[in-house]
Amino acid sequence: MDDTDKQIACAQCGFDDHEENAEYCERCGIPLYNVCVNSSCPARYDDDQDVHLSPQAAYCPFCGEKTYYANKGILIPQNGQ
Ligand SMILES: [Zn+2]
Ligand SMILES: [Zn+2]
Repeated sequence: MDDTDKQIACAQCGFDDHEENAEYCERCGIPLYNVCVNSSCPARYDDDQDVHLSPQAAYCPFCGEKTYYANKGILIPQNGQ
């Protein structure tokens, strides 16, 4: 069985009971995956798909461009220490 569609909590509202293969939060509408917005990002260039980055990534580790979440101001605040 393919087990790649694990549920992730929405970075903005925390909702985590999404439909299978959901790409957007059904509660607040933001993309469930943080992506690089640089259309010529070297990571995206490989297969012409969005580059899924860590929800806490403010900048793309591959091209240094600000991520979608950073642009929208919906980065998950760091918890703990
Ligand atoms: Zn949400
Ligand atoms: Zn990038």
